[in-house]
Amino acid sequence: MSKSAAKTGIVYLVGAGPGDCGLITVKGLNCIRKAEVLVYDRLVSPCLVRQAPQGAELIYVGKLPDRHTLQQGEINELLVEKATQGFTVTRLKGGDPFVFGRGGEEAALLAEHHIPFEIIPGVTSAVAVPAYAGIPVTHRGLASGFTVVTGHEDPDKEESDLDWPALARNPGTNVILMGVGNLPLITERLLSEGMDPATPVALIHRGTEASQRTLVGVLADIAAKAKAADFKHPAVIVTGEVVSMRKSLQWFERKPLFGRRIVVSRAREQASAFAEKLEALGAETLEIPVIKIVPPLDFGPLDRTLDSLESYQWLIFTSENGVKSFFNRLVEKGKDIRDLKGAAICAIGPKTRDELELKGLRVDYLPSEYRAEAIVEQLQGVVKAGDKVLLPRADLARPLLPEALTAMGAAVDNVTCYRTVPGEGDVPLLKQLLAAKEIDLVTFTSSSTVTNLLAMIGSNAGEQARLLDGVAVAAIGPITAATAREHGLDVTVEAAEYTIDGLVEAITNYYTEGGGRRVATDTL
Ligand code: SAH
Repeated sequence: MSKSAAKTGIVYLVGAGPGDCGLITVKGLNCIRKAEVLVYDRLVSPCLVRQAPQGAELIYVGKLPDRHTLQQGEINELLVEKATQGFTVTRLKGGDPFVFGRGGEEAALLAEHHIPFEIIPGVTSAVAVPAYAGIPVTHRGLASGFTVVTGHEDPDKEESDLDWPALARNPGTNVILMGVGNLPLITERLLSEGMDPATPVALIHRGTEASQRTLVGVLADIAAKAKAADFKHPAVIVTGEVVSMRKSLQWFERKPLFGRRIVVSRAREQASAFAEKLEALGAETLEIPVIKIVPPLDFGPLDRTLDSLESYQWLIFTSENGVKSFFNRLVEKGKDIRDLKGAAICAIGPKTRDELELKGLRVDYLPSEYRAEAIVEQLQGVVKAGDKVLLPRADLARPLLPEALTAMGAAVDNVTCYRTVPGEGDVPLLKQLLAAKEIDLVTFTSSSTVTNLLAMIGSNAGEQARLLDGVAVAAIGPITAATAREHGLDVTVEAAEYTIDGLVEAITNYYTEGGGRRVATDTL
């Protein structure tokens, strides 16, 4: 398919950063968001690939177990071809495109074909990965410079492109990329060139990510230690006195949720704030929007209540989404908050209250406990017999609250102002990570997140159980926990306060009190 000849294509060679999705530049992210074609490598995080606009062509050019790697020449040609067709092409590479990224070769061919291109530098793993292990590549008094080399070359090769004697003599820091496979040869060569066997060395695997592992030793023993620990690539090797700074500067690995990969399953609009809180504590999150908020099938019942708002003594809101969708509809119908007149307002939960306050409304009653059963008890005496109560909620909300209010003698209008339907999360990625046992914990913030997530990952209980075997489960409150148990899940973590903050706290307590498996980061 070719685009109109009028439009000239362009290629952005973008550095994606070392792994942590937050470590891409603003400019780089903008280039992903405007890409018509996104060409990306193996070390690029899926979370960045997901930022491409819908409809963009995604081309993976990294290694796959069942396929030949696209040769560099073929990648260069691909960029030329797509840009010539008039597309905006974003070529996303791990770290920085010009640090062992072969970005220079790609740019050279584009230049040869007079195709416009831009280079967006990235945060290179050579600097960022040591930083996440608490190792500054330079430090006053310890290292006045650093050298970045490839360890991919056989150090015994007759005509090495590397100056091994100079590396061995380097009073600064050596940072070696792509060197894990050759580690025994590299250390032997440095020792034979006279480097002090006591030189501190660190190996950092998958730095800046949840799976970051750091192994520290000295030049004389690091190869044996790495073998014993079955240390794998990709990793950055750092040699020099700066490695000792790690003792005091280690920070990422000390975060309470460091090393935990947590699934955040909730409606898309709300997921990010929850995920950000977990990430700030060191977790890596996978947002799976299992629920989508959509308008009701029939606005009739809600619209009728909007026409007679003055007749209600109480408006009871049970969720943020309820508040948002109710007021959206109110405005759509040409009304505003003045039409609420004298009705008293009750909010279930602090987030619902906050949402109401954002609309400039004062909340008259906030129950101190947010479980439906407890709310019913607390509303006794607050809502009086004969009161007319409007309850704008989700289509699948439990009948307990309207039933109890009716039993108190209130006239209840329980109207649907939004529906929850299964979301459109990246299910293949979730299933792949669950199968590989790379997920530590799955969070549930409502009963429908439980049922939807389970339905998304497997068609039968056996398949669901197999994928979730060994995965911890966190529930926001007793009702959600009960739903999880009904589906055969063991609930590991339950929030004491039924809010997102309460859930974050319970998860943190679980891990800091020794829950879950933990790789000993001091030795590793
Ligand atoms: N252009 C990239 C480097 C590409 S070469 C950059 O600037 O970072 C690939 C090598 O980079 C890997 O073999 C490994 O040595 C290193 N590397 C990249 N990301 C890494 C990470 N998150 N953790 C450890 N090493 C990483």
